[in-house]
Amino acid sequence: MPRPSHLVAGRLALDFANLSPSAHDLSWDEFLSFLVDAHLVSEDRAASLRPLLFNEPHAVDAILLRILRLRESLRAVFSSVVEARHYPVSWAEPINEILRITEGHDELIFHNGAWSLEFIAREAGLDWLLAAIARSAGELLVEGPRAPIRRCANPACRLFFYDDSRTRRRRWCSMKVCGNRHKVAAFLRRKKR
Ligand SMILES: [Zn+2]
Repeated sequence: MPRPSHLVAGRLALDFANLSPSAHDLSWDEFLSFLVDAHLVSEDRAASLRPLLFNEPHAVDAILLRILRLRESLRAVFSSVVEARHYPVSWAEPINEILRITEGHDELIFHNGAWSLEFIAREAGLDWLLAAIARSAGELLVEGPRAPIRRCANPACRLFFYDDSRTRRRRWCSMKVCGNRHKVAAFLRRKKR
């Protein structure tokens, strides 16, 4: 299955850090769509989770708060890695919080002619939705300061991505979007002269 074009980072935790809108405007629906796009849950599963917004508003509120907390901490940590700055150990705490409470296992699910791995949580609650993201973030932190985490060179974009290109000199989140925009702008500048 082709990756949706807005998931360009190459690592789940970076795509999650890129998730917009900012601050407290992220809705339950937007988060569920992200999980589907990232193949973390199936469409069917997302459809069964969507009504929780009305049936269990407190549980959804609690998980939205955790989502924001995790995303903001990931943005801070990844920015530090990009800028080769040290960050306090406590900034990783929101990741550990998720890892601590999510016990479960992966299970193969066959759907629409393709296999996917879905995380099956041992306990109820909604925190399991963040388990794979926290796991991916943990792996990136373990890679240390040399992890090729970058931000798109387009000042209006600044999305995080994982640069596993051969030369390690990738500049754009996506050649199709920001890379192309840059090429066109450079072309127009040359033409003007
Ligand atoms: Zn970009």
